[in-house]
Amino acid sequence: MTSQLDNSRATLRLFLNNHPEIKYVSPTDPEFSSLKTIYNQSVSVAPMAIVRPQTANDVAALVYFCVGSSIQFTIRSGGNNIYGLSCVQDALMIDLRDINYIEVDQTKSSVTVGGGVIVSNLLRELSKDGLVTPTGALGFLGIVGWGTYGGYGPIMSRYGLGVDNILAAKVVNAKGEVVVANKELLKGIRGAGGALGVIVELTVKVYPLGQVLAGMIIFDSQDITSTYKNFNAGYQALLEDGSVPLELGIYQFIMNAPHGRVFALALVWSSEDHDAGRATIAKIAALGPVMMNTVEPKTIADHIDFIGTQVPQRAYGTCQTVSIRKLNEDATEILGRAFEKMPSSFGTSFGVHELRGLSAAPNSDSVFASREPHFMLELISLVAKEEEVNESIEWATGLKNELLQMDPRNLLSGTYISVTQPGDVPLSKIYGPGSNFEALLGLKRRYDPQNAFSLAVPRLVEQ
Ligand SMILES: Cc1cc2nc3c(=O)[nH]c(=O)nc-3n(C[C@H](O)[C@H](O)[C@H](O)COP(=O)(O)OP(=O)(O)OC[C@H]3O[C@@H](n4cnc5c(N)ncnc54)[C@H](O)[C@@H]3O)c2cc1C
Repeated sequence: MTSQLDNSRATLRLFLNNHPEIKYVSPTDPEFSSLKTIYNQSVSVAPMAIVRPQTANDVAALVYFCVGSSIQFTIRSGGNNIYGLSCVQDALMIDLRDINYIEVDQTKSSVTVGGGVIVSNLLRELSKDGLVTPTGALGFLGIVGWGTYGGYGPIMSRYGLGVDNILAAKVVNAKGEVVVANKELLKGIRGAGGALGVIVELTVKVYPLGQVLAGMIIFDSQDITSTYKNFNAGYQALLEDGSVPLELGIYQFIMNAPHGRVFALALVWSSEDHDAGRATIAKIAALGPVMMNTVEPKTIADHIDFIGTQVPQRAYGTCQTVSIRKLNEDATEILGRAFEKMPSSFGTSFGVHELRGLSAAPNSDSVFASREPHFMLELISLVAKEEEVNESIEWATGLKNELLQMDPRNLLSGTYISVTQPGDVPLSKIYGPGSNFEALLGLKRRYDPQNAFSLAVPRLVEQ
């Protein structure tokens, strides 16, 4: 007896006979296993097949076909949705990685990329022209998936979030047409990414910036609680007296290094005025007992590639998050105590993205919500060994619950969707406050009334 899945595959093959340029990878093909691999190894599911369109028109034909044949599909670019949402059991995986062109405009003020471009390739290409654009902290992230859901990263306080840098998009809509996003669709894309269509092309701002100062400062962490608390008390004072220019991006993190658990900073001074950068970074370094300081002149592309060597390339587990207004004494007390008990597995870690400056400035052309200065805490259980997942998640969940007991005035109600476990926080909070969520639902009704993009992030309509 043939199953529904066999029928869908047969229909797909008939369609592909007329579209030989679209690559087809069936579950029996040798490359299937490596092509379906995504960052999160805990998600062990098999799509019905993988298709690799070469152009926007290929994507349009695929969407038209899937909608007409009632075949559910996911969009896969970098494959780094932390919860594995780009790979769904029995759904067709539309893999955009071959749509990977990068074109800098003649005035060198923007770059247009295909929907499957990843961060490291974009930064390498831009660095040939002495240009940068804000990106996430790791090179393997898809630039569209990173930037359209918010887009936090090392130079955001100076240049804004990913969403703030989006100038234009070409989208395959629910009717299977390639369209240039108009103002309201663009607003939805800036925060809700692929929920309204497949983004086959994105144009973002670029900035002239050659060598920056970048690297890590690792503190002696024998007494990690005191080191962490003292650092943040001092850092808060520097912030309050205006001594931390927006050129400085700091990602605070706790990780398990080969020689033990450490408190460290990943720093980027996004200006070519290195004297000013060194002076500012010296003030930051003075806030704790420095064990190692690797900050030096380099390109952002080199820095991002280096950071990528410090994390598992694939991982098991999950990530949880809480966003808070201040890393005040209450918060650092809870965190410091939790670090003492942090499991020693490689990949269990804690990180802080700080939104200030342009990254915290309201943007009414976006549905991304959390636009006020805050610290986005990542409780990371993305570990290299499967058997270490449970202990890591137990620790992170305990920490999250403790943080949520804090003075509610210090807690943001929303969280960052890209690091929020599905179901943990209602979408109305993630896209609230204000009318963002209602606006987004309105856009969904207008641009995707039949919910063709039902498996996209965020899943706005319950199945
Ligand atoms: C190790 C790690 C580090 C991270 N670091 C950061 C960070 O520093 N800053 C930050 O902000 N986020 C970070 N993230 C989160 C990451 O940016 C998001 O999960 C992002 O959506 C991943 O995009 P992707 O293309 O790599 O992943 P995918 O899994 O391929 O895509 C995720 C989803 O995005 C949508 N999507 C992607 N591309 C398209 C497209 N072209 N058209 C339509 N829809 C699309 C689809 O719904 C898809 O299911 C990190 C994630 C991981 C795993």
